[in-house]
Amino acid sequence: MKTTTRVAVIGGGVVGCSVLYHLTRLGWSDVMLLERSELTSGSTWHAAGGFHTLNGDTNMAALQGYTIRLYKELEEITGMSCGLHHVGGVTLADTQDRFDMMLAERAKHRHMGLDTRIVTPEEIREIAPVTNIAGLIGGLYDPLDGHLDPSGTTHAYAKAARMQGATIETHCMVRETNPRPYGTWDVVTDKGTIHAEHVVNAAGLWAREVAAMAGVYLPLHPMEHHYIVTDDIPAIYERATEHPHVMDPAGESYLRQEGRGLCIGFYEQRAKPWAVDGTPWDFGHELLPDDLDKISDSIEFAYRRFPVLAEAGVKTVIHGPFTFAPDGNPLVGPVPGLRNYWSACAVMAGFSQGGGVGLMLAQWMTQGECERDTASFDVARFGTWTTPGYTRPKVIENYQTRFSVAYPNEEKPAARPFRTTPMYDILDALGAVWGQQYGLEVPNYFATGDEPRYETPSFRRSNAHHATAREVRAVREAVGINEIQNFGKYLVTGPRSRDWLDRIMAGRIPKPGRISLTPMLSEAGRIIGDFTVTCLGEEVFRLAASYAAQAYHMRWFEEHLEDGVTLTNISDLSTGFQIAGPRAREVLAACTRDEVAAMRFLDARRMTIGMAECIVQRVSYTGDLGYEIYCDAMSQRSLWHTLWQAGQPHGMKPFGMRAMMSLRLDRLFGSWLREYSPDYTPAETGLDRFIHWQKPAPFIGRAAAEAARDQGPARRLAAFEVAAIDTDVHGYEPIWRDGEVVGFCTSGGYSHHLGTSIAFGFVPTAADIPGLEVEIEILGDRRPARRIDTPPWDPDGIRLRG
Ligand SMILES: Cc1cc2nc3c(=O)[nH]c(=O)nc-3n(C[C@H](O)[C@H](O)[C@H](O)COP(=O)(O)OP(=O)(O)OC[C@H]3O[C@@H](n4cnc5c(N)ncnc54)[C@H](O)[C@@H]3O)c2cc1C
Repeated sequence: MKTTTRVAVIGGGVVGCSVLYHLTRLGWSDVMLLERSELTSGSTWHAAGGFHTLNGDTNMAALQGYTIRLYKELEEITGMSCGLHHVGGVTLADTQDRFDMMLAERAKHRHMGLDTRIVTPEEIREIAPVTNIAGLIGGLYDPLDGHLDPSGTTHAYAKAARMQGATIETHCMVRETNPRPYGTWDVVTDKGTIHAEHVVNAAGLWAREVAAMAGVYLPLHPMEHHYIVTDDIPAIYERATEHPHVMDPAGESYLRQEGRGLCIGFYEQRAKPWAVDGTPWDFGHELLPDDLDKISDSIEFAYRRFPVLAEAGVKTVIHGPFTFAPDGNPLVGPVPGLRNYWSACAVMAGFSQGGGVGLMLAQWMTQGECERDTASFDVARFGTWTTPGYTRPKVIENYQTRFSVAYPNEEKPAARPFRTTPMYDILDALGAVWGQQYGLEVPNYFATGDEPRYETPSFRRSNAHHATAREVRAVREAVGINEIQNFGKYLVTGPRSRDWLDRIMAGRIPKPGRISLTPMLSEAGRIIGDFTVTCLGEEVFRLAASYAAQAYHMRWFEEHLEDGVTLTNISDLSTGFQIAGPRAREVLAACTRDEVAAMRFLDARRMTIGMAECIVQRVSYTGDLGYEIYCDAMSQRSLWHTLWQAGQPHGMKPFGMRAMMSLRLDRLFGSWLREYSPDYTPAETGLDRFIHWQKPAPFIGRAAAEAARDQGPARRLAAFEVAAIDTDVHGYEPIWRDGEVVGFCTSGGYSHHLGTSIAFGFVPTAADIPGLEVEIEILGDRRPARRIDTPPWDPDGIRLRG
């Protein structure tokens, strides 16, 4: 066995083999895979082998599309069969909400180039005749759905990797992974120790145990899962062509032809987590004992939807475990806190996603970044705050809601409340309707009087609409107060802080007492952060960005840290409030003996507010006159009482995230992962106006950003006023012009202050003219929209800066 390698991939399931293949494809051939038993000895061997492109998340759908298209290529390279059956599939809708979701998905597919179509119940009967169409409203047909042979496909990946130089060691159990001082790893196996530059954890069912060998916790958990194969069914084997797949979300089932019969699997409500205290090492090519009781309701439902099942005998019952992350997406990428240690875990649909996961990880490892935004599957979307106690209920919830309608405003309840600030009970008593960000409870809005403390999940404007309008009015007409725990905050100190920030950030680094806004770029010149930088002294800076991107940003900072700079994540140590609105200055002045009136827009000061030592920043995402006031967590309640008391004579009201996201629209402020993400460049989004081109520092991404600027972007972010009726843009809706899809939306919403619906979206630069008229397709309805050329409210920034 080799004793040195560039990469040691642990795990020979479909995901490990795909990673191995993609590494060789991108040019790394000195790579090896270590498998404790035979290939496919985890979840892979007993999978049903189904694949589909549909995924509410556009980047995940792209990974799935790539995976499916790859199989033909794999067959050609290796001469092996993946056992492909491209039979197409239809997803059923029996409620208006489910149908709305399909309309929204279908609309997204237009600009993604996916050829799905909405079908009527009669068409469903023709496509999938075993379906009882009673009660159905329609469905979504996807010609790319299909299934394959799990074992054959895994071995095809393995062969393709071997053909390009990779080695595979089976019956080679990894016992330890020990880091060396310079970032390489000793991988201790039954057959000896391998010195590897990089380690990839692709250990599937044992990913938790393998992660623990490196001293980290990965938030994933195995769940039990059943599918049933029937005896021969004449209505199936007498068909001239193979019966397509049918997904029935109401019955939480997926169905397809298997040989001369059918195969049906369930995501049942009586879901059971498996191996709660750890996956046994002696679990191998075996199944779990049948537990038909837990799927009896689902079977009964399936008998009504697919009556042929009731007459067919059961040939085989498959009951096996596979792993999920709390949100159901894979955990991919460099594991925060470790060097050269990568995750390819929690891939719950290895045959839909495994190829894409392998490609993304291999790009990350060999090229330093991926071709697309990784936010939805990056292992860093969860922080060190995750625990098995959090992960387990979230994974159960995810399993149970796998086929539920995914609403854009939905807040799922499991494992909550978990992380709360000292303000939780005070805000709760004020009627907070809570949302969750990165594990933290954050008020979405405040219900008053008889209003329910629950926002109805909906694709249309929800019951939060009126409460949000009330909060927006309070900000625009008087003063609002909002907790600002949910920013990612970092303290940068040391003699080389300014130089380092000049290299890490593309924008201007402010003078003492001032604030600047700046993009942070990757080497390829893509947007990996939009930061507020505050200079509190020549060697003391604060940074603020998205709260949910903490682990993502910390990983980047740590990778690029230099001597003479200390960076600390103070996100949960520094908290406070934002006050915003025309009376904000008077409220603040009433709380401090420090000078408030002289504070200009983008000034920062240390002040005593009531009894609390604070940092006050004259900036507000509401676009209004506003102040962000930071203190330590122990002073937060005292600071609240001071501000709240002083605010009452001025009509102060609390406001939440729904109001904040409405207020930002008035000034056309973009937001992280919507308008600004690694999928886009500064030149495309207009963030290039914050790049300090004249600074001498060779900031990261400079060459790429300059090239993009000189070339000019092919598409540009624009804002639109939309003639919406009762639903607004959420993201990825197609933009039509002259009967053609020319772009897509990034986000939108209802501006309560302006009384209009606003959307952001990309359009080709050539079409991006003042007053451009387009149509935006929302839930299947093409609504007229007109480009907004300047912020519709306070266009000269008089309120903001005055
Ligand atoms: C009943 C059922 C039906 C399914 N149906 C589908 C479907 O239709 N479509 C679909 O896409 N997905 C399906 N899945 C899910 C699919 O099986 C998984 O997504 C996929 O198998 C995950 O592959 P993996 O490589 O990540 O993990 P695994 O298959 O679990 O592979 C991990 C490998 O790592 C090895 N390993 C672990 N620890 C070590 C160590 N210390 N040293 C060396 N080797 C180690 C193991 O032996 C194992 O071979 C189904 C799952 C189940 C249970």
